[in-house]
Amino acid sequence: MRDVEDTESPGIDPAQLYHRLFRQYGPQHWWPADDPFEVILGAILTQNTAWANVEKALSQLRQQRLISLEAMLCVSMEKLAKLIRPAGFYRHKSACIKAMSNWLAQQGGIENVKRQNRVSIRKELLDIPGIGSETADAILLYALGKCCFVVDAYTRRILGRVGLLDSGSSYSQAQQFLVSNIDKEISLYQQYHALLVAHAKAHCRKTPLCGGCPLFDVCRYFQEVHKLETNQIF
Ligand code: SF4
Repeated sequence: MRDVEDTESPGIDPAQLYHRLFRQYGPQHWWPADDPFEVILGAILTQNTAWANVEKALSQLRQQRLISLEAMLCVSMEKLAKLIRPAGFYRHKSACIKAMSNWLAQQGGIENVKRQNRVSIRKELLDIPGIGSETADAILLYALGKCCFVVDAYTRRILGRVGLLDSGSSYSQAQQFLVSNIDKEISLYQQYHALLVAHAKAHCRKTPLCGGCPLFDVCRYFQEVHKLETNQIF
């Protein structure tokens, strides 16, 4: 993790980064579902696939009236796997959805889970096969309304490029860095993660589109590439 003061770039801190992204992209309406159980399904289905594929899987579940804990507990694994096939890794994901549904039922339902504290829910979520840190935190933040920052590959890419994180930073180091430097507010965490995703899609792609990027003047990656190009010219 880098100290903002130590970077060669003019520097930006996580709060300023948020404001720049918010000015550029405006409020993000995440998660694209209101029902917490649907959010949980989406968080599992979206692992390693594009959201468009998740939509197809959710639409099939919707048609079969399976977007409820009660219905999901009754459906067979075979039928579920077939319905969510568009989202990929369908055997693995159907087993994960079933395990998640069983756990929710053991807890007495989503509303009961919401009453528990964040740390103990997170620990239990991580014990469910197929649930990793990113999925657990997405469920905590967007389905259960807990203050838990979601870190994904986009977060690490953008923070790494602007000079706030080292490329080798772990999930928990990135998460700890962000939560130590921004206000602890659920709506801020929800917006911030969504804005990072929007920025990664619009500009900070694997091969970045730096032209018109709202962060170019504070971006270490941009400065290094620019310096390299200038040196090549002279
Ligand atoms: S200037 Fe380029 S590398 Fe830097 S944040 Fe913007 S798109 Fe990403």
